[in-house]
Amino acid sequence: MGCTKTPGLQTRLLHEGRRPEHHGSTLPPIYQTSAFTHASAEELEKVFHHQAPGYAYTRIGNPTAADFESRMAALEGGIGAVSCASGMSAIAMALLSVLSSGDEVIASSCLFGGTIDLFSDFEKLGIHTRFVVDMTVETVAPLINEHTRVIFTEVIGNPKLNVADVAALAELAHRHDIPLFVDSTTATPCLIRPIELGADVVIHSSSKYISGSGNAISGIIIDSGRFRWTAERYPAMNGFLKYGPMAFLARLRDDTWRNFGPCPAPMNLYLASLGLETLGLRMERLCGNAKALASALKDSPLFGDVTYPGLSDSPWHDIAGKELTAYGAILTVRCGSKERAFSVINHLRYCANATNIGDVRTLVIHPASTIYAFNTEQERLDAGVYDDLIRVSVGLEDAEDLIGDFIQAAEVVSRTP
Ligand SMILES: *Cc1c(COP(=O)(O)O)cnc(C)c1O
Repeated sequence: MGCTKTPGLQTRLLHEGRRPEHHGSTLPPIYQTSAFTHASAEELEKVFHHQAPGYAYTRIGNPTAADFESRMAALEGGIGAVSCASGMSAIAMALLSVLSSGDEVIASSCLFGGTIDLFSDFEKLGIHTRFVVDMTVETVAPLINEHTRVIFTEVIGNPKLNVADVAALAELAHRHDIPLFVDSTTATPCLIRPIELGADVVIHSSSKYISGSGNAISGIIIDSGRFRWTAERYPAMNGFLKYGPMAFLARLRDDTWRNFGPCPAPMNLYLASLGLETLGLRMERLCGNAKALASALKDSPLFGDVTYPGLSDSPWHDIAGKELTAYGAILTVRCGSKERAFSVINHLRYCANATNIGDVRTLVIHPASTIYAFNTEQERLDAGVYDDLIRVSVGLEDAEDLIGDFIQAAEVVSRTP
């Protein structure tokens, strides 16, 4: 049997990037330790200077983390990866590795609420963000100026469910010597490999689909190694440019990440690695369920607007079809008023009211009163967060049960005066 063909996704999820484990354990061992001892002072000195392989202290590196990082780098087609304590710290560390006071970021306004809050914290460091409601080449190009240093977007915006044209944005960014950073949390490596489309840095909150059961917080940054950083435009990278394609990872791992200290717990990365192994199967079912639920709710007179990139009336249906292998597992539905949205949530039987996505079970939330509670009214509108909107992170339940659950909840609500 020939084996030259590129393996399929589920095969790659199980086998790619695995590091040899000397006892032969099939799963990555959990190195639940702070420090690593060495036979001699000379040896530890070498480890500290990267002159010998090995580990010194878990905030600087840990074998359980290294296994997950190597798998994620292989899956995304990057040259390396650094894992973090959370998706938020991954975004913060990736950006703080390259930005300095006076720099500007151009970002989609349809971002995860925490990321918008982070950009507002960056203002206090002198890093300004220009937000774009609908991020296209046409809307971004006029905002690029001599201070622009990063273009940042989510592949599938959470919760607006807009889909970025990664290839077009990367091409525009590179024409101006700017890297494209993408948060691919909601798309996962199963739906898109942004580096293949030109993205320079890919970030995931692996707390979500990758871990998959809502059991642990973690994040990861993957670098393509392709962007050419210069001292003039990226003074934050000074001292690391000598590493060439590894410059970003060196600055990140040996400087920003090590010193800010958001190292992930080994146990959490064990869970992320475990989740990765079934990600393909889960995404297939989750995306199928989301499509079935979105279509059913759209056809029901009990609900208002339903947004899902897999519906043909989504403004992002075409780009999603072109760029993604499926349309994702999140949809939003409008209920007419905040009170009705609350009441629908309260009457659902199978859908947990919780602030998370990417769980095996279906989760619902009213974003306006929770995740976006601390954003301005304008920020909420720009992110597609309306007062009557429910976000649904579709789970693995049987689609018929989910559809039935939403219909029965809406029926109860419509009978209540
Ligand atoms: C959840 C989420 C984050 C933040 O990740 P944490 O692991 O919760 O810190 C960032 N981006 C997106 C798209 C998310 O859904």
